[in-house]
Amino acid sequence: MKKEILVSLKDTSITYNNRGKLFEAVHKVSFDIYKGETFSLVGESGSGKTTIGRAIMKIVPTSNGDIIYKGDKIDKKMNKEEIRKYKQEVQMIFQDPMASLNERAKVDYIVSEGLYNFGLFSSEKERYEKVETALLDVGLIPEFASRFPHEFSGGQRQRIGIARALVMNPRFIVADEPISALDVSIRAQVINLLNELKKKKDLTYLFIAHDLSVVKFISDRIGVIYGGKIVELAESIDLFKNPYHPYTRSLLSAVPLPDPIKEKSKVIIDYNPEIHQYDEFSKCEWIEVDKGHFVLGSNQEISKWQKEI
Ligand code: ADP
Ligand code: MG
Repeated sequence: MKKEILVSLKDTSITYNNRGKLFEAVHKVSFDIYKGETFSLVGESGSGKTTIGRAIMKIVPTSNGDIIYKGDKIDKKMNKEEIRKYKQEVQMIFQDPMASLNERAKVDYIVSEGLYNFGLFSSEKERYEKVETALLDVGLIPEFASRFPHEFSGGQRQRIGIARALVMNPRFIVADEPISALDVSIRAQVINLLNELKKKKDLTYLFIAHDLSVVKFISDRIGVIYGGKIVELAESIDLFKNPYHPYTRSLLSAVPLPDPIKEKSKVIIDYNPEIHQYDEFSKCEWIEVDKGHFVLGSNQEISKWQKEI
């Protein structure tokens, strides 16, 4: 079956402008997200992951290239109705459930905010039913609607954050490090919930994380990002089996091992970007090394890296 592309970034750059000071946080990034898949973006803090999420959400503009959703450019001017439809279909789940919820509002209002903004209900009864369903979908009881965020644990708050996205009946969700701020003990529950919801609601995810261990089992494909550039992209299994780029290898070497003896003796590989000495003879290119497996490097580098596998 031919895969259907839902979201595409094509040569997308994103530049921040702080009072005339320009900073390019994302440089010519290209990838497709297929309908129904979990595509993960992994890289250290500051590499541009959230910026990409924000551009997809139309919170920041692109400075080069395009972002395409269902065949339409969404980083260009859209009319009111198009924006409304887009902002309903595409939702984001944020990293810090403590900071992202309005402390003074009850859960009922927090979950309903998008419904209010877009007038997505015709009666108070309908609105409340949508809130109730969203809370039940994330494993919370409807009675929580009348409480305030501070009455909940981190995991419950993240569930409220997920309910807030789900109530909009989205097609695509950007989950920006949704478990990074949570206790290790409850991370798996939230991951399982996201996986269940994906199946049940036929969703597509862009999942953002800063380490590979989190995304191994939930991703169909993974893009590794360093300094605003994607350096490697492959199916999850492939990336773990045959990592080419030294930055990917460095990230992989940091993944915790289940065997405590191996974990104790494991060697973490540092990545030094100065090892690449690109010039006009040894040009840095985006090369497909195996089917669907892309690496950023020169031909010479890639053949060297291949021998190391
Ligand atoms: P990540 O989510 O991977 O940690 P971000 O996308 O948040 O990375 O940030 C990428 C880069 O852009 C960082 O160097 C960060 O300091 C910079 N940045 C983020 N937001 C802004 C902003 N509003 N103005 C200027 N620079 C920013
Ligand atoms: Mg971030």
